[in-house]
Amino acid sequence: MKFTVMTLFPDMILETAKTSIMGRAMEAGVLSVEAVDIRDYTHNKFRHVDDYPFGGGAGMVIEAAPVYECWQDIVRDKENKPRVVYMTPKGRTFDQQMARELAQEDELILLCGHYEGIDQRALDLIVTDEISIGDYVLTGGELPALVVMDAVARMVEGVLGNSTSAEDESFSGMYLEYPQYTRPRIFEGMEVPEVLLNGNHAAIEEWRLRESMKITLERRPDLIDPERMSAKERKIYAEIVKNHC
Ligand code: SAM
Repeated sequence: MKFTVMTLFPDMILETAKTSIMGRAMEAGVLSVEAVDIRDYTHNKFRHVDDYPFGGGAGMVIEAAPVYECWQDIVRDKENKPRVVYMTPKGRTFDQQMARELAQEDELILLCGHYEGIDQRALDLIVTDEISIGDYVLTGGELPALVVMDAVARMVEGVLGNSTSAEDESFSGMYLEYPQYTRPRIFEGMEVPEVLLNGNHAAIEEWRLRESMKITLERRPDLIDPERMSAKERKIYAEIVKNHC
């Protein structure tokens, strides 16, 4: 999968992307990340990309021309134009379902704004999707783009070492993830739950399901839909709800 990021701060993207799991995937050739500097497409001596907003108001706006020319250069030789995702607080709120859907693409272009945003005409010409990473305002689109890239990359085959680990975790199904433990068995006097030590896989699976249901009911009851539960899940869920009340 290839990410091409249109940004005023290419180093911020590349330095972060090359670390950890994304970096390993890049080295393995499963993932490619390119950052293109929008400032390279200015035609003025000072490489200014921003100007005052028409109609007045605080802040500056990124001009349409450098953004549009940057995009034209990126897609010039491409037969199929990749989707262009503009990172903006006005976009659809990002979630795991969107990450899964975007991971189906071979290539994505992510557009990062700054200042008060980007001239609407450039957005109208090139953007296919608008994504927000939450109801707050950051200074630029680079951190949101990295968030999206990280979540999407994990869904791409070969990026995570263990291919099942993206499936068995929070938001992969209806429940948040159960608690995890590793060695030592006793830490600061606290013991790992006995059931996880006895090798009884059916009992472990049921314990995990029960814990997942409990934490989801406590923190994110909106995720739970009894209609989608199996008979076994419904039975365990009914017990949990009874004890919860
Ligand atoms: N004036 C804009 C508004 O009120 O919607 C906010 C501009 S913000 C200061 C600058 C840039 O940061 C945006 O163009 C966008 O690319 C990025 N950004 C800020 N918060 C974001 C969020 N929650 N999700 C995605 N991108 C965000």
